[in-house]
Amino acid sequence: MDFSGKVALVTGGANGIGEATVRAFAKLGAAVAIVDVDLDAAQSVASSVESAGGTAIAIGADVTKAADVENYVRTTVGSFGRIDCFFNNAGIEGRIAPIVELDMDVFDQVMAVNVRGVFLGLRYVIPVMLEQGTGSIINTASVAGMVGSPGMSAYVASKHAVMGLTKTAAGEVSGRGVRVNAVCPGPIDTRMVRDIAAQISPNNPDSVQAGYEASIPLGRYGRAEEVANVVLFLASDLASNVTGTQMPIDGGRTASPRAITENIED
Ligand code: NAD
Repeated sequence: MDFSGKVALVTGGANGIGEATVRAFAKLGAAVAIVDVDLDAAQSVASSVESAGGTAIAIGADVTKAADVENYVRTTVGSFGRIDCFFNNAGIEGRIAPIVELDMDVFDQVMAVNVRGVFLGLRYVIPVMLEQGTGSIINTASVAGMVGSPGMSAYVASKHAVMGLTKTAAGEVSGRGVRVNAVCPGPIDTRMVRDIAAQISPNNPDSVQAGYEASIPLGRYGRAEEVANVVLFLASDLASNVTGTQMPIDGGRTASPRAITENIED
């Protein structure tokens, strides 16, 4: 894959999956706009990309705010002239609690970042791509956009909503050069999954990781770079007939979770 001359825009690009995707795009020649609420961290990733010979700018934005989203789109187009690939990725995990105990402020904040933020990204990037007549958008959903997860109602609802937005946007722009897909990572080794483990078992988060890993056919957490690889494929012309899809990157967990009987000795 070659992204020379292309422009990639990545939200949540300062850490984790977003950062790995920024670096992957830059390595393959794209100019990258790194959007994050943590501007210092975004600037540090941009500097490191530039030191490695790539091209990147950092833009501070809270994706829940329409004015910030409008600004990151305007700044990217102002700096690089176009947007070829949009990784609409910023997201938060919220707190782990059953529905009957979940704080409504947490519910609202998770929906604001994970749903409103993704919606606003689509709302302001799609017109740029339609004007160009070309573009690829990848939204970050999750396996939590495909199946439920007790204790994570707001997160699960938000990621199911990302799937709905992905399918709807794909239909709205079809035949006009723009594709919209979603990636559905399983547990990926980033700050987010470590925080979830620490919330579930503050004294023994490693046991949570071991439990997750035991349920995954490939037997391990994924790496951020493995999500980036799929995002780049979907962003590239190799995926020219792919739109409106959800791509699990979960070591086989959703398709065939390991049954507990596999752990029972004869
Ligand atoms: P992370 O916490 O390492 O990175 C998320 C980034 O988003 C951070 O840089 C953060 O500052 C930024 N961000 C948060 N709120 C923002 C806001 N309002 N405006 C702008 N930026 C904001 O987490 P990650 O694991 O890299 O997660 C990235 C995406 O992948 C999220 O959408 C997450 O839900 C999804 N995901 C993660 C996993 C996993 O196991 N790590 C699994 C499935 C899906």
